[in-house]
Amino acid sequence: MTKAEYESQLKRIQNKLGNSKKESSTRFELPVVDVMWEGQKTFLRNFSEFPKILRRDPDKVLQYLSKEFAVPAERLGDKAMFVGRRAPDDFTRLFQIYVKNYLECRTCKSPDTKITKENRISFLLCEACGAKSALKGKYA
Ligand SMILES: [Zn+2]
Repeated sequence: MTKAEYESQLKRIQNKLGNSKKESSTRFELPVVDVMWEGQKTFLRNFSEFPKILRRDPDKVLQYLSKEFAVPAERLGDKAMFVGRRAPDDFTRLFQIYVKNYLECRTCKSPDTKITKENRISFLLCEACGAKSALKGKYA
């Protein structure tokens, strides 16, 4: 193999690697949780970013967090306040579960879904593959 051949082959491999990396980064990415504590209260300072990227009703997202933490929560502009002290990881974990239960298509794993209600039963409708599946979560 000549040097030129070697280099072009290397480039091909790098392109391939680059492409597969790009593919995985088009997967759903959550914002980094920005938490602040005040006494026995936890403020999620960038709460409003989550419903936006999740494309879900902020009230529903807040309700979900509040129920999962089993504490009262309140929206204050872009922030959300929770009673008690919560670590950023607690929020991250809940948002990851949220994505799995309320966002990800069962069939193709796309996060481009919406929730529809029929006879008071919520379904997850996938905008990528058209699959309709029963919603896993309870707080839609
Ligand atoms: Zn799908």
